[in-house]
Amino acid sequence: MALPQKMIETRQIDLTPEEYHVPEARRRALMRELGLGEAEAGKARVVRRTLDCRRRNVVYHCTIAVGDAEPLPVSPALTLPPDARPVVVVGAGPAGLFAALRALELGLRPVIVERGKPVEERKYDVARLGREQVVDPDSNWCFGEGGAGTYSDGKLYTRSTKRGDVGAVLRTFVAHGADPDIMLDAHAHIGTDRLSGIIARMRHTIEQAGGEYRFGCRVEDLVLRDGRVVGVVDQHGRRHEGAAVVLATGHSARDVYHMFLRHGWLLEAKPFALGVRVEHPQQLINEIQYHGQGYSPYLPPAAYSLTTQVGTHGVFSFCMCPGGVIVPAATGPGQQVVNGMSNSHRNSPWANSGIAVTVGLDDLAPLAPGAERSPLALLDFQMAVEQRMFHAGGDSVNAPSQRLVDFLRRRPSSTLPRTGYLGHTVGAPLHELLPPFVAEALAQGFRDFDRKMRGFVTEEATLLAVESRTSSPVRIPRDRETLQHPQLPGLYPCGEGAGYAGGIVSSALDGIRCIEALSLQR
Ligand SMILES: Cc1cc2nc3c(=O)[nH]c(=O)nc-3n(C[C@H](O)[C@H](O)[C@H](O)COP(=O)(O)OP(=O)(O)OC[C@H]3O[C@@H](n4cnc5c(N)ncnc54)[C@H](O)[C@@H]3O)c2cc1C
Repeated sequence: MALPQKMIETRQIDLTPEEYHVPEARRRALMRELGLGEAEAGKARVVRRTLDCRRRNVVYHCTIAVGDAEPLPVSPALTLPPDARPVVVVGAGPAGLFAALRALELGLRPVIVERGKPVEERKYDVARLGREQVVDPDSNWCFGEGGAGTYSDGKLYTRSTKRGDVGAVLRTFVAHGADPDIMLDAHAHIGTDRLSGIIARMRHTIEQAGGEYRFGCRVEDLVLRDGRVVGVVDQHGRRHEGAAVVLATGHSARDVYHMFLRHGWLLEAKPFALGVRVEHPQQLINEIQYHGQGYSPYLPPAAYSLTTQVGTHGVFSFCMCPGGVIVPAATGPGQQVVNGMSNSHRNSPWANSGIAVTVGLDDLAPLAPGAERSPLALLDFQMAVEQRMFHAGGDSVNAPSQRLVDFLRRRPSSTLPRTGYLGHTVGAPLHELLPPFVAEALAQGFRDFDRKMRGFVTEEATLLAVESRTSSPVRIPRDRETLQHPQLPGLYPCGEGAGYAGGIVSSALDGIRCIEALSLQR
């Protein structure tokens, strides 16, 4: 018989940042504003918070619960029976890891096939990339255990709340060592310094239960038996087989798209976005967002989110990292790519964000007539821009850079400000190097953003190129009901690389969806 639900009363209140952060000030505010007694106020806790800096007086909108706290999630101690059906999960990014964790709950044995290294070893390759500018095509900022989400800001908000139980994803992160506050913050993030440990603890859960990891195995082909996909073949010719395959290789696994093209399996071009990363001093963003209140011990480094429409193109800020750094995110030789990340405390002196312009097949027709007919047309376009930026950086992962004001005046920068890029920057005329429709949309976009956030366009802002891995330029199609590839039963295209997710949480949700669909197939 179900036990009666414990009644927890929730109330709404606005708290000043000081009231939010100082326990005694918070208790007094709760007694005053909600009429709580001393004992009740002591037991009250915040269960949801949103920082609202739209008005001069910055406040936290809080949902307060009075009553006993829910116990914190713990990682489940699962053990699979010896005859549990193995399923192959390709890729140990958020989609693959959450597919594997859910597989355990469904009684399936996940066999994770990953081209990169365990997170403890991967960090040396990532550090070497910044220091020596050597890109290991199997171990870098995007490839390796934890996928592209490992060295990130670890932002956890998603617009895809209808795609599954976001709370379950957050609880899993907490059970593996994330700060429990991520469950109450409307704009939660974990931070790169915490993510590696969380990913390693997820591995522990999976292995303890009977799942398996096969690192250093780059999938180059599929195994088909009686018309069904039952496994994969790696670069050494080894086969990894199971009841079915979840393909969660992320948006940078270009070799996987080429494998599909080689076999004539269905692929589709998918609109994506491309632009630059803009970097400002964090103090300046604080001044703008907190209305002149540049520093307060009770306010976090300020964030922003900007969008505008320029003709047929959307221009938007992407993966904004307050107190973050910019990283060289290429995944192969001859590419120059940037992205952003931050630590849990977001304590660098810089604020950076991708500023990207939507790119669709219509944009390619004038550039290369006929190219738009290839499913890899947008991928080829993305690659060509990355190669151009690589050459502009002196045939290395030096980031071609320009002051924002010079970009708008269409002239090279004679000097560049100090930057948080984990590599070197070189002055370059980005207004000429970017495809003209991207450069024009960006220029108008920046002017619009300066109207929304006065001071955004400043001598102190730098642009670094190129922000090209915003989402996948290719979709690997799947049936809406079964989630299997229409020509390849047994294959579940999954996560960001298949074009069904964008970001850590939505990729995790898609991993869960795919394995649940797979578990229904006999
Ligand atoms: C620097 C950076 C910062 C980011 N910050 C955020 C953020 O703050 N918040 C957010 O929501 N999102 C962020 N993102 C995006 C987020 O990381 C991705 O959306 C997410 O990781 C996608 O998950 P995925 O599992 O689908 O793919 P991925 O994370 O890309 O994982 C794919 C995995 O597959 C493996 N793989 C690839 N090819 C093969 C192959 N052939 N054989 C075997 N294995 C293969 C890769 O090594 C990798 O481990 C960031 C990305 C980067 C690069």
